[in-house]
Amino acid sequence: MRGPVVAIAAAMVAATVTHEATLARQVQPPSPERFFGFRIGTDGELARYPKILEYFQQLAKTTDRVQYKEVGKTTMGNPYVLATISAPENLAKLDRLVEINRRLADPRGLSADDARKLADEGRAFVFLYATIHSTEVGNTQALTEIAHRLVTENSPYIKQILDNVVLLVVPSQNPDGQYLVVDHWYKTKGTPFARVYPDLYHKYVGHDDNRDWFMFTQIETRLAIGIQNQYKPVITHDMHQMGSGGARIFVPPFDDPYDPNIHPILAQGQAAYGTAMASALVAEGKGGVEWGNRYDLWTPARQYMVYHGQPRILTEIASVNLADPIVNPAGKNVPFGPQEARANFPLPYTRSDWRLRDIVDYGVTAAFAGISHVARHRTMWLENFYKVHADWVNWKGKPYAFVISAEQRDPFETSELLDILRTGEVEIHKAQAPFTAGGKQYASGSWVIKVAQPYGAFAKTMLERQKYPDLRLFPGGPPKAPYDVTAHTLGMLMGVQVDEIAEPFEATLVNVTKAELRGDIFPLTTKGAYLVPPESNAGFLAVARLQAAKVPVFRAAASFDLGGRTFSPGTWIVAASPESTRILKELAVTTGLPVAAANQPLPVDAYRLKPETRIGLWRGANNMPGGWMKWLFEQYGFNHRLVSSADFTGDPASLYDTIVLPEGTSRDTIVRGLDPARNDKEWSWAYGVGEAGWKKLAEWVRGGGTLVAVGSAVDTARALLDLPIEPVLPAASRRGRGAGERPESAPPDQNQVLRDAFSSPARLDAVLRDRVIDPTTLFYCPGSLLQNEFNTAHPVGFGMPAAWPVFFESDQAYRLKPGFEIQSEVVARYPSRGPILQSGWLLGEDLLRDQANVVAFRVGRGYVVTLGSQVDYRTQPRATFKLLFNAMFHGPSVRVGASELARLTGS
Ligand SMILES: [Zn+2]
Repeated sequence: MRGPVVAIAAAMVAATVTHEATLARQVQPPSPERFFGFRIGTDGELARYPKILEYFQQLAKTTDRVQYKEVGKTTMGNPYVLATISAPENLAKLDRLVEINRRLADPRGLSADDARKLADEGRAFVFLYATIHSTEVGNTQALTEIAHRLVTENSPYIKQILDNVVLLVVPSQNPDGQYLVVDHWYKTKGTPFARVYPDLYHKYVGHDDNRDWFMFTQIETRLAIGIQNQYKPVITHDMHQMGSGGARIFVPPFDDPYDPNIHPILAQGQAAYGTAMASALVAEGKGGVEWGNRYDLWTPARQYMVYHGQPRILTEIASVNLADPIVNPAGKNVPFGPQEARANFPLPYTRSDWRLRDIVDYGVTAAFAGISHVARHRTMWLENFYKVHADWVNWKGKPYAFVISAEQRDPFETSELLDILRTGEVEIHKAQAPFTAGGKQYASGSWVIKVAQPYGAFAKTMLERQKYPDLRLFPGGPPKAPYDVTAHTLGMLMGVQVDEIAEPFEATLVNVTKAELRGDIFPLTTKGAYLVPPESNAGFLAVARLQAAKVPVFRAAASFDLGGRTFSPGTWIVAASPESTRILKELAVTTGLPVAAANQPLPVDAYRLKPETRIGLWRGANNMPGGWMKWLFEQYGFNHRLVSSADFTGDPASLYDTIVLPEGTSRDTIVRGLDPARNDKEWSWAYGVGEAGWKKLAEWVRGGGTLVAVGSAVDTARALLDLPIEPVLPAASRRGRGAGERPESAPPDQNQVLRDAFSSPARLDAVLRDRVIDPTTLFYCPGSLLQNEFNTAHPVGFGMPAAWPVFFESDQAYRLKPGFEIQSEVVARYPSRGPILQSGWLLGEDLLRDQANVVAFRVGRGYVVTLGSQVDYRTQPRATFKLLFNAMFHGPSVRVGASELARLTGS
């Protein structure tokens, strides 16, 4: 009896499943309009992110063309989602299709014939994502309509797409920002408050969340890179919005310059894809399409894909006022944008209004045109993907390889650098024996990165020096501004010596796939002290942990000899205890931190760090450098908090030993801050402290506080305390900051020069004759690595090499003025001879000769350190973190003699 019952039950289950499946397929998914309760793009209305995820889930439930997957959680714990859309037959064999992509991406041992067969069998993967910049809301909205059409329509057009393409859709690349921006938009409806979210829309890095694509510091970047590395798409389309005034949409091809490491097939591919989009838009009568302007293809900070076999597809659509329509401020009947057709702008836009629905319409047309182009040329895209990687694998050019010597000043950052390369899927080899390359001896254990490998493009661009072309608006004229920075040489940024080796060499190598970190097994001790050399950034991880565990920490005030070894100035001295042993042992293993033990009195004076040094970070609202710094301080575990305006109603000395002013902190940030009339109490921390607070800040410094200022904040500190320095460079031409795309134009003053030049033929003649720009006063440095010399005996220079590049992005250099009450010491300066530019672009090098960058001041009983260049820029120049960290901890420290040190350390 039992058998038949089971059989019947099984049959019933099967019948139910089939029935449900049939039902499911018959249930048409709701249109976005029905689901959200308004037509997507309706003036003033935005679908919220969680509801959008529900919509994609609904599509996945009711059709067999969508797979929905939560890939991970964001910085603030929200779901980061991937929807995979294709024909059901493709989704059923997704693993096989991915396997084909992976084979084409690493074509070693694959013949061209076999590659062609695989391209024939494979499907082209297109990765499409929106709203990495959260106020550019339109494209996430548009994706709901794109998805709906793909899963419900049965036309030959859609069928061709579904059969040939696997679409990877990330509805938002910064989900947290969608919550913040859209929720704020609704919360402020009908109030006097500003409707655009007033702060960073990514917890740490704000708008810079798309400048992180080579250091991979943020969770969302890592999630996207995970998708790239897993599926290996042939296209990534990054959907943005730009300013409202000019063209209605930008599509590729891009403007000059290109990173020469971008394979020509990819350079051509972005043109083909972009042209398909432009053609479709123009064919639909959508005016204002522009290409070949503004946006360039230089820095990997924005473009992981071009070093991984794919063209970069960027669309930038003109913005509205978040969701509210805009009318041309020039007049009701004045159309937006240029009204003359040009080769790269074939159809002017004729209306004087622009609405969210327009953004959606342009976005939908552009996306479909691109995807459909790939669908029609599927095998070509897959074959090109193969060819790009085959060319890199067969690289015969120079250099042959990069070698990273096993002997580095900072094993921690060396390991971090190798981890970045590995995340970018670069193969790393390790030498099993000593070898010679480029005429230099390398120890066993040194690392070799050959250029001839599938992602050789990524390795090469990250490890070599950038030679940015000297682009001018006209010969001898002002520089043509790059869209972003010009240098990204990883070794220089991270304080790691990387050697470029032109010619092939022999070495016994093994492929290493994992970091192998282990400091010297250090002698454990129960009395005396541990000594930690100051060169590794991991020393500051130790400081944070030791301070949290209430272990006293000292720094040697000078170099000293002990047991036949010389220790540098700034060597960390830590009393031995079970607690300090545990902390240092763990860091030795995880960061390679070298630790020595001393059982006899140390023949040196020292600085005793203030226990649990209290650090204040003046982040300010919507200041990206402050956000990056917040992330950085959290990574190191420093005892810090954000400075709030409320702190200045009381005594700041009861809260802070050190206050850091990041780049972008102006007098206005401090005194006025956010306007209380436009921002409710939630933002009171970012209100200004008023003139009284400004005075109190100065008094706090003079009374013993430590103030550390970076970049443009140096000028704020100078004004606050009348510091005896003055800027030496012509008014810095700065890029825009905060929300919104960075302006693409040349520095305004030079633009004005240009406009004047073209105002009349006579003027132009004069200008060309005089060359307008006097090369002896022109200074331009839009994000490059510049050589500095350091006073390593100075507490702010502890642990630095004698010379190393700093990151300089439209920053300032200083000359000292005589100070009567304020003592000043130069810690870092630009060299008086030899090349200053190490990587990137610099005009006016001589203006920097022998000028000061980092200066320390005694102000009353307080301490001030000004760091003129952005030593922590986007947390990328890790080689110079030490300058910032040293300053933060040194200011509040006290000097103790050798005898007291011996007593305190128990040695
Ligand atoms: Zn954007």
